Amino acid sequence: MEGFSTIIEPFRVKSVEPLRLTTRAEREELLGKAGYNLFALASDDVIIDLLTDSGTGAMSAEQWAALQRGDESYAGSPSWFRFEAAVKALFPFAHLIPTHQGRAAEKILFSVVGGKGKVIPNNTHFDTTRANVEHSGAEAVDLVIPEGKDPALRHPFKGNMDVGALTRLLEARKGEVPLVMVTITNNSGGGQPVSLENLRAVRAVCDRFQVPLFLDACRFAENAWFIREREEAQRGRSIKEIVRDIAALADGMTMSAKKDGLANIGGWLAMNDGALAQKCRELLILTEGFPTYGGLAGRDLDAIAQGLSEVVDESYLRYRVRAVEYLADKLCAAGVPMVEPPGGHAVYLDAKRMLRHIPPLQYPGQALAVELYREGGIRGCEIGTAMFGKRPDGSEQPAAMELVRLAMPRRVYTQSHVDFVVEAVLHVFARRESLRGMRIVEQPASLRHFTARFAPL
Ligand SMILES: *Cc1c(COP(=O)(O)O)cnc(C)c1O
Repeated sequence: MEGFSTIIEPFRVKSVEPLRLTTRAEREELLGKAGYNLFALASDDVIIDLLTDSGTGAMSAEQWAALQRGDESYAGSPSWFRFEAAVKALFPFAHLIPTHQGRAAEKILFSVVGGKGKVIPNNTHFDTTRANVEHSGAEAVDLVIPEGKDPALRHPFKGNMDVGALTRLLEARKGEVPLVMVTITNNSGGGQPVSLENLRAVRAVCDRFQVPLFLDACRFAENAWFIREREEAQRGRSIKEIVRDIAALADGMTMSAKKDGLANIGGWLAMNDGALAQKCRELLILTEGFPTYGGLAGRDLDAIAQGLSEVVDESYLRYRVRAVEYLADKLCAAGVPMVEPPGGHAVYLDAKRMLRHIPPLQYPGQALAVELYREGGIRGCEIGTAMFGKRPDGSEQPAAMELVRLAMPRRVYTQSHVDFVVEAVLHVFARRESLRGMRIVEQPASLRHFTARFAPL
């Protein structure tokens, strides 16, 4: 607001969900039952749930109204036409294929363009993207700039693609690259943005080698906001204009509407290539549904259509990015190590630097995540050796980073909730020397972080 410095939540609350305030003793018992795995907790036993920002946002009154407007006709429903118009207002690709969430779009795309002998470059593949690329038999290669791999290094666009490395890959293996992908914002790299300038440079390389460029656009609005704030030439432009510039550089996209669709479910795949779209639609019908609803109910298509008009609103984005930055600023000021600067959707605490006395194979990130729940009832997500440390041959290897992600659901928590999170993290930080590592007592063959059971050392 003009002349004032307090950035307020640009909404008020119409309907409330009570939080159950557990005691420390209760949480201690719940942790034991859950095998010290926060995925195994009932969400009612969590006070502030920062496990993910995916599908956990609050819908607006207009979105709830849109649900009521939803039309469940099997083919050609008005909900589909509203969805199509809303997506194409931002991303005017010729072909739009609705899916039940982002990974379904990835599965379809890589089933068609992937396969043995192919390689997909990306700034950093999100885990489901990598899994879908690899499931097709193709290789997933991450080419983020070196600055993007150093948690403590400040850079305005740590999600940028290393254009030199991309050029070298294409020179060496052009015939094997069916498309280049860029993830905005770079979720697995800390939610860091990609600049418009970098996207233009990637586009130029794609043109030179005649390879299509696809966006993994889950957080396109947050990325556009960072472009407007941090890229000199883009200052003062509207978010919608910037998003359309981003779209114009690409040949297609995958999307999870659970992020910047401001919806609880949904996604899509879009592209200009008609022949590719035809093949994708054939798979869509096998696993998702008819091309005018994909894997979604008509009401979901309407909720997304409305969400897309809200997510590019400047007061929403200013609040959104500021809420994450507010949490990061308070923790940074107290010396809590984290990935800097914070990304658009989460603060990533650096457990490696915080808990130097706990070796990687004693899962410092897991120890920190468990302690945040024990002390504050806060649920974050370990992104470190518990998640990535197990190799296919069963051996253990430390992950590159030991992070605990505190992801902010959209429009859900207020400033006092964030203040409470700050207090709890600082409380744990003050007694960090007393934290001890964990061991794994039971684990599945793959994706162990979801179901493994741990014990304190
Ligand atoms: C969430 C996400 C996906 C997958 O979307 P889902 O809707 O969870 O299937 C893909 N890429 C990125 C960058 C994401 O954040």
